[in-house]
Amino acid sequence: MTLTTTDILISGGGVAGLSAAAAFGSAGFSVVCVDPAPPVTEATAAGADMRTTAILNPSVAVLEAAGLWERLAPHAAPLQVMRIVDAGGEVPEPRIVKDFDAAEISDAPFGWNLPNWLLRREMAARLAELPNVDFRPGIGTKGVFTREGEARVTLSDGARITTRLVVAADGRGSPVRAAVGISVKTTRYGQKALAFAVTHPIPHNNVSTEIHRSGGPFTLVPLPDRDGKPCSAIVWMERSAEADRLAALPVEAFEAAMNERSCAMFGPLTLVTRRSVWPIISQIAARMTAERVALVAEAAHVVPPIGAQGLNMSLADIGTLLDLARADPGGLGEAKMLQAYERRRHPEVAARVTGIDLLNRASMLGAQPLRDLRAGALNALYSLGPVRKTLMRAGLGLR
Ligand SMILES: Cc1cc2nc3c(=O)[nH]c(=O)nc-3n(C[C@H](O)[C@H](O)[C@H](O)COP(=O)(O)OP(=O)(O)OC[C@H]3O[C@@H](n4cnc5c(N)ncnc54)[C@H](O)[C@@H]3O)c2cc1C
Repeated sequence: MTLTTTDILISGGGVAGLSAAAAFGSAGFSVVCVDPAPPVTEATAAGADMRTTAILNPSVAVLEAAGLWERLAPHAAPLQVMRIVDAGGEVPEPRIVKDFDAAEISDAPFGWNLPNWLLRREMAARLAELPNVDFRPGIGTKGVFTREGEARVTLSDGARITTRLVVAADGRGSPVRAAVGISVKTTRYGQKALAFAVTHPIPHNNVSTEIHRSGGPFTLVPLPDRDGKPCSAIVWMERSAEADRLAALPVEAFEAAMNERSCAMFGPLTLVTRRSVWPIISQIAARMTAERVALVAEAAHVVPPIGAQGLNMSLADIGTLLDLARADPGGLGEAKMLQAYERRRHPEVAARVTGIDLLNRASMLGAQPLRDLRAGALNALYSLGPVRKTLMRAGLGLR
């Protein structure tokens, strides 16, 4: 049986766990990162995550500190405008179109969009550059025992790790969270998201477009051109039965359905990837810390994919932990550091989970009078300049 001592054990090597490993490793801490599922790093490989993630502007600092941004930037499509479209009238056509332009609040775009499989490829490559990061794909966390001065973690291959801080980045069903007895509050919407990519004749001009009708938003996020044609990633949220029906349709029938739902705003859409289906929930952990343990990302919070919040909240968790660790490396994992993390992140996360829950419920509305009310609210909020700017800043996580 091998015994390793490390500053930080990261349980989970999804996009959040890999980012955390690169961030703490780049800051000079010794890190062990484990995940039973090795990262799939090619678009065409079985199990590749075909979703894309919009990395919002404030998250870039965390990725820079992790030595990741210089690797990611060349592959990223900028998001300059967020277009909100209400198509909730009697017929599926745009009746209100509002552009939120990043230029109103900053010189920089709102963010940059990247495929998830590519994030994993660049993150795994970054970890390979860091001699103080020991990434163990194919191995999971099995047991966690903590006491005041350290945590002891048992891995699925029988290895044991003694560490000052366990970072739980092991997803919405986090085994570390369960092991330390932190409960969660979960909201189920009976809703799923279809994620896929399309090409289209009308260019997106770096505009991300969110179309609301019923069942949930239909969002097109810019990607770099594909085969010389404008290309976008789509997240299409619907009631579960409808999402399953759409996912099973033959390609031609599916393309007809998505052309109707997109109101033909980009011309006829052509499906260029497989469709993946994701159950939609909201979830928040009662606490984000326990003795020698910090929860980050989906282990702490899950939100519907609206306004590109999920991974960006996760990077804010990681950035906060990193700041606290760098400010007092000797106090890594101690109660004082974890209390500060809880204070800084939990109220912010709770507010965001509540806000996104409301937006999702508004987007799901089916009854015509309520959809009319929603359109009126969009008009009213947009027409007030200061409110509009506050909303844009809040969406980015800026105060
Ligand atoms: C359709 C869709 C679109 C989205 N779009 C965006 C977007 O544009 N912008 C954005 O910011 N967010 C977006 N999100 C949210 C984003 O995908 C998640 O927040 C992000 O994936 C972070 O997840 P994670 O790393 O916490 O969890 P996961 O990706 O679930 O990773 C958890 C990891 O833990 C591992 N694990 C499980 N058990 C163990 C164990 N015992 N030991 C160790 N490891 C273990 C798993 O194998 C997995 O790799 C979207 C989500 C969905 C569903």
